Amino acid sequence: MRRLTKEIRVYRDPDDDRKFIEWCEAHPNGFVFNCEIRDGEPQPYMLHAALPKLNELAQARLGRVNDLCYSFRNEGNPSGSGYRDNLTTGPNPKVVSRCLEALEKRYGCQPMCPYCQRWGWSR
Ligand SMILES: [Zn+2]
Repeated sequence: MRRLTKEIRVYRDPDDDRKFIEWCEAHPNGFVFNCEIRDGEPQPYMLHAALPKLNELAQARLGRVNDLCYSFRNEGNPSGSGYRDNLTTGPNPKVVSRCLEALEKRYGCQPMCPYCQRWGWSR
């Protein structure tokens, strides 16, 4: 994890997957920019809620009311983590903040994730 500014953290280093998940769980009202790597730097392309509300089916199945975005989860992961492998260390690092303004000031506005949006989440 690298602290880019007081408000912004970047998760892209080895062992960051676990730390990223922990950050989301500790900041249910936080924001995540999913990124691709361009010229060696994370370039955001989509905005997610840190911990969007689950639909009723997923709530019953997972036994909780919110969780990381559907696009980050993999309930069948053989490791039992419940999440995709290489969430942050593959080609898609994550930039996070409790403050959406701070993210948008630095990176510009990004489109909202359709999965996060589907369960009623809005910025
Ligand atoms: Zn999402």
